Amino acid sequence: MNSASGHYTSLGERYVCDVAVIGAGPAGSAAALAAARSGANVLLVDRANFPRTKVCGSCLTDTGVDAITALGAARALTTATPLHSIHVRCGLRELRISREAGVAIARETLDTALVEEARRAGVEVRLATSARVRPDRTLELTAYEERSVAHASTIIIADGLAGSALDDLEGFAWHIARRSHMGFGTILPANSVQCARGEICMRVVEGGYIGAVQLPSGDIDVAAAVDPRALRAANSVSAAAREMLGETALDAHAIARARWRGTPLLTRRRARIAAEGILVVGDAAGYVEPFTGEGMTWAITTGAAAGALAATETRADRAWPRVHAALTRGPRLRCALLSRVLRAPRFVRTLLAIGEHVPAPFASFASALGRKPRAFPVRNPRTT
Ligand SMILES: Cc1cc2nc3c(=O)[nH]c(=O)nc-3n(C[C@H](O)[C@H](O)[C@H](O)COP(=O)(O)OP(=O)(O)OC[C@H]3O[C@@H](n4cnc5c(N)ncnc54)[C@H](O)[C@@H]3O)c2cc1C
Repeated sequence: MNSASGHYTSLGERYVCDVAVIGAGPAGSAAALAAARSGANVLLVDRANFPRTKVCGSCLTDTGVDAITALGAARALTTATPLHSIHVRCGLRELRISREAGVAIARETLDTALVEEARRAGVEVRLATSARVRPDRTLELTAYEERSVAHASTIIIADGLAGSALDDLEGFAWHIARRSHMGFGTILPANSVQCARGEICMRVVEGGYIGAVQLPSGDIDVAAAVDPRALRAANSVSAAAREMLGETALDAHAIARARWRGTPLLTRRRARIAAEGILVVGDAAGYVEPFTGEGMTWAITTGAAAGALAATETRADRAWPRVHAALTRGPRLRCALLSRVLRAPRFVRTLLAIGEHVPAPFASFASALGRKPRAFPVRNPRTT
């Protein structure tokens, strides 16, 4: 790999680079940064213009913070608010667990800052540019109805749950879990939901759960995972949110007026996450549920590992499924088990009642969330 920038072929008809990354969420930016830091010339494209919104609880674990720092991008977290506790409510039961771990940061802020870090590292960034991989493994880029073609030795797919970059390729179909929840969320004005600074406030109800956290600006990020049938039964998304927030909803007017956004079904995995010259990372490789607040961490760690691998190995796709599994299998299994428990609010209430008297096991479970997997098989890329 050479560190010169990508270039156009002599006839100017196609852009050529070592690594192309599709999607500039946390997974894509981490991949682009890691590849560029390892000496590759990198193209990063996203169909959105930044800053862009994303339905997310905006809580980043310590492992996510460490991974961003290892990429030399700690500046992206300058405004983040430290988190110190989780408060879980279910019916009349509640449990507050101390957990000095992770930060809250608005996705608009974090994602835009990471794209800027990638640009500073020499990555060619193209926003408002949609990409798809053609069957011959070239990339078709569309920006403002203008089409162009790019060629990369390795393409990293980081286009999230709703991406379309792999639609023309066979073998990458999604397997979606039968009882999958869908997500929705918004940002509400300060004080419209009861939630102290530095605390993650979760409420588990029949058919789903909802979380709130104060962002550095004082606004409240609200995000939920819900059974699609429960959402259909409510009159509107805002009515469902109001109901799920219960007594913590302080400003019904703000909740009704907010612009709520939804997601596709959440619990899913790809039939495959690698093929010759292609690695799939972040949500685009699979997702479980948001309760443990680890999605961005999985996105950043898998993105960074794929970027470093793509820059240093000619057949990175051969190693990728093993590396990806080592990074995500344990935490995803834990998250899947927890999501089953959360589908039984009566059982959750019993657990919270036990936790009021014996909090230690709950505290140690909470502090395990977002912990670094034991095997971290890809060395961190250079940060200089
Ligand atoms: C309700 C809810 C709450 C959550 N709460 C948390 C939390 O508190 N903490 C946490 O860590 N995680 C949380 N998550 C999960 C987290 O949001 C995701 O795991 C994370 O955003 C994944 O990052 P990504 O980079 O893989 O994908 P994304 O952030 O989705 O980025 C994908 C990007 O790809 C772009 N794109 C798509 N298709 C194309 C294309 N064809 N061409 C070019 N660009 C394309 C999109 O515009 C987008 O910018 C939550 C999720 C939900 C649904």
